[in-house]
Amino acid sequence: MTIHQPIKRVREFAAKSHKLLIDGKWVDALGGGMIEVFDPATEESIGFVPQGSAGDIDRAVNVARRTFDDGVWRGLKAEDRAKILWRYGDLIEEHAAELADLDIFNNGMPRYMADGMVAASANWMRYYAGEATKIFGRDATGAVSGGGSEMHAYTLREPVGVAGLILPWNGPSGVFVVKVAPALAAGCSMVVKPAENTPLSALRLGELAIEAGVPDGVINIVTGYGDAGQALVDHDLVDKISFTGSTDVGKKIVASAGGNLKRITLELGGKSPCIVFDDANMEIAIPGAAMSTFLNSGQVCWAGSRLFVQKEAFDRVVSGVADFANSLQVGNGFDPATKLGPLISAKQRDRVLGYIASGRSEGAEVVAGGDEAAGKGFFVRPTVLANVNANMRVMREEIFGPVISVTPVEDMDEMVRLANSTSYGLASCVFTENLNNAHRIASRIRAGTVWINCFGVNHITMPFGGYKQSGWGRELGSEAVDNYLETKSVFVELR
Ligand code: NAP
Ligand code: MG
Repeated sequence: MTIHQPIKRVREFAAKSHKLLIDGKWVDALGGGMIEVFDPATEESIGFVPQGSAGDIDRAVNVARRTFDDGVWRGLKAEDRAKILWRYGDLIEEHAAELADLDIFNNGMPRYMADGMVAASANWMRYYAGEATKIFGRDATGAVSGGGSEMHAYTLREPVGVAGLILPWNGPSGVFVVKVAPALAAGCSMVVKPAENTPLSALRLGELAIEAGVPDGVINIVTGYGDAGQALVDHDLVDKISFTGSTDVGKKIVASAGGNLKRITLELGGKSPCIVFDDANMEIAIPGAAMSTFLNSGQVCWAGSRLFVQKEAFDRVVSGVADFANSLQVGNGFDPATKLGPLISAKQRDRVLGYIASGRSEGAEVVAGGDEAAGKGFFVRPTVLANVNANMRVMREEIFGPVISVTPVEDMDEMVRLANSTSYGLASCVFTENLNNAHRIASRIRAGTVWINCFGVNHITMPFGGYKQSGWGRELGSEAVDNYLETKSVFVELR
């Protein structure tokens, strides 16, 4: 077997003495504790990052507050902020191979995914360079000047203040940029709390921010456990939290943010439906339905893990998806032939295996996978469960692993009823050759995104986010900048 080693540069970066980024300087955590970081494909320890605590968060928030109040970033001319964002995007592109390698090493994702995510991130940063110069209010003078006195009235769009950005582990550099770029465009100062499992690319992106010319103290990065995230949410000098992660933590954040009523954007879990009509083009539908769940080994918030197939096509789709699952190469992300990497941790692997066991015990039939792969690394083979029903845990709860549950359905009404019978509403995909069905069902599914004859397409121009318990607000697009802005109305009585 070929051993695919991360290149020396990435290994050295992982192993170096990491620090927190506060006020443009790399500093130790106050408590001096460290968090061990692993390669999930080999279970090997690859480095340590500081265990930031509430005290470190407090330091970072105070610095962000000062830079915000002093206007070192928000006070720059929009075109000057834009130039720095553009330079930051160019630096991400220049260092794309290194950032992708870091995410492969630390998250386990396969090369094609890491390369795609980092290339997109460079473009996202530059997109928000453009957005920085397009933030302005509107003039309402014509409409409000009707009364006794003459009024000049207009709105201002102002940055919300200090933003706390809390990141998950499933798309480390991508989610960093999805939050940091619009917050920068808006003129916010920020504190970023990466996931404990995948802090490395965020620290490298911190170095690149300095190189791009983002002023000291505008982006602060505090690595740490969930208690550091909680301290950020609790902090009275933070005006805004943007969080991506589990629905459970999302609910805690809503409760805690009540202290100073900080604004919140939440991108939470999902249990997306994937629907295949009888008339679908099976060359597209079968691999599409499979990869809508298996991509990144199912560690994707929008995973289409509930597969509903119209009755006539059911047997063909189940066997097609099972064959496809069996054909996927599972392995180390550095191997270019790898299609699926490991899960992030032993805990996540055990959680996913627990779901498969619960499906079995509730009567589901395992038609592909169903177990872990032999050897080192947190691998679970892509799994297809048939004979499932809506009450089973595997159909109700987000698994965040490579597990699809397939159910036969009669017609569009039943598809819509089952698709919507979930507390989530992040995304959905539909395979059909009938345009009427496609557009009709797109309007009936209660989810933030509908993919027709495709899956997982995200584009910087298109907002992404959840209905119901999949979250609050939208990321990507110009909508994401709105998350970091307040609107002020100004009335001037002219005499
Ligand atoms: P999580 O606990 O929601 O973690 C997400 C981020 O929030 C991490 O940075 C985490 O820090 C931090 N955090 C944890 N507790 C916090 C608190 N009380 N206040 C503020 N921040 C807090 O998710 P997880 O433990 O990594 O994964 C658990 C499950 O969440 C997964 O199995 C999956 O179902 C779901 N998930 C969903 C997404 C998504 O994109 N929708 C992404 C990741 C996970 P630590 O890393 O130190 O815990
Ligand atoms: Mg956690």
